Amino acid sequence: MYDAIIIGGGPAGLQAALTLGRMHRRTLLLDSGGYRNGTVRHAHNLLTNDGRDPAELRRIARGEIAAYDAVEIRDAVATEVVRDGDALTVTVDGDTLRAHAVILASGVADELPPIAGLAEHWGDTVANCPFCHGHEFAGRPVAVVNASPHAAVLARMLEPVASEVHVVAPDDVSEVSGSHDGLRLRLGDGTALEVAGAFVAPTWTVRGAFVDALGLERQDSGAIRTDPFGRTSVEGVYAVGDIAQPDHLPGPMFSLAAAIAGGQLAAVAVVQSLVA
Ligand SMILES: Cc1cc2nc3c(=O)[nH]c(=O)nc-3n(C[C@H](O)[C@H](O)[C@H](O)COP(=O)(O)OP(=O)(O)OC[C@H]3O[C@@H](n4cnc5c(N)ncnc54)[C@H](O)[C@@H]3O)c2cc1C
Repeated sequence: MYDAIIIGGGPAGLQAALTLGRMHRRTLLLDSGGYRNGTVRHAHNLLTNDGRDPAELRRIARGEIAAYDAVEIRDAVATEVVRDGDALTVTVDGDTLRAHAVILASGVADELPPIAGLAEHWGDTVANCPFCHGHEFAGRPVAVVNASPHAAVLARMLEPVASEVHVVAPDDVSEVSGSHDGLRLRLGDGTALEVAGAFVAPTWTVRGAFVDALGLERQDSGAIRTDPFGRTSVEGVYAVGDIAQPDHLPGPMFSLAAAIAGGQLAAVAVVQSLVA
C-alpha cells in the first residue's frame, strides 16, 4: 500500500514526489515519457533556470528525488484509477497497485491548427505563450495566428517586445516554413509574411482516460476542478499542473512555476490527510 501514487513525471508530479519523499511517505511516481514541452529546447521564466532545456530540468529533478528512499519512479503508463473502499487502485502494466492518495499530474495534449509545416516549429519559433517565448523575438516582427478575441490581447502584450505584431487568422495561413532564425508564413492571397516567430492557440485536452472514468468535476475550461491544494471532487484524488484549475483562478495556469507550486501544495495536503 503506497501513501501516494503520482501519475506524471513533469514538473508538477516531480515536485509532489520531492515533497512526499522529504516527509518519508511511501510514494510511486509513474511517467509515460510524453511531456507537453517535449519539443522545447529552452524553457523560460523559471527563476534560477531561465533558458534551461526542460529535459535537463527533469533529469536534475529525478537526481534530487533519488536521495529519498521513500520514492520509487517507474517509467510506465497508468491505465486506470478506481476508488476501492478506503483506498484507490491504479492499474499499471497489468498490476493493480493500492494507495491512500492519487495525484494526477498527467498534463494536457495540444492540437495545433491544421497548417502545413506548423508542427515542425512547435516549441521553437512557434509557441503559445508570450511569457515563455517572446523575449527571444525581441525587436523583430512576430505573427499572432489566432482568430479569437484573445488575439488582440496577445498582440497588445507583445507590443513592447516585438518590432511589429501581425494578427492573422489561421484560415489565412496555408503553409509555414523556416528555420530556428525565422519563419515564412504563406498567406491565402499568395503573399508571404516573414517573422521571427509565431504564436498560435492550440486546443488542448487533459491526458489520461482514467480522468473521465473517475467522473471528476471539471471547470468550464475543461480542466479538472480543484481547491487551492489540488483536492478534486473525489476524495483522495488530487490534480495538479496543467490539467488542474483551482476555483480561485480564471483558467489553468500553463507554466513550469505554477505546476511546481501546485505539486508541492497537493503533496502537503496528502501528508495532512495521512496524519488527520
Ligand atoms: C510549446 C510549449 C512551450 C512551453 N514553454 C514553457 C516555458 O518556457 N516556461 C514555462 O514556464 N512553461 C512553458 N510551457 C508550459 C509547461 O510546459 C507546462 O505548463 C508544464 O510542462 C506542465 O507541467 P505538468 O507536470 O502539469 O505536465 P507535463 O510536463 O506535460 O507532464 C505530464 C506528465 O504526465 C505523464 N503522463 C501522462 N499520462 C500518463 C499516464 N497515463 N501514465 C503515466 N504518466 C502519464 C507524462 O509522461 C509526463 O511525465 C510550455 C508549453 C508548451 C506547449
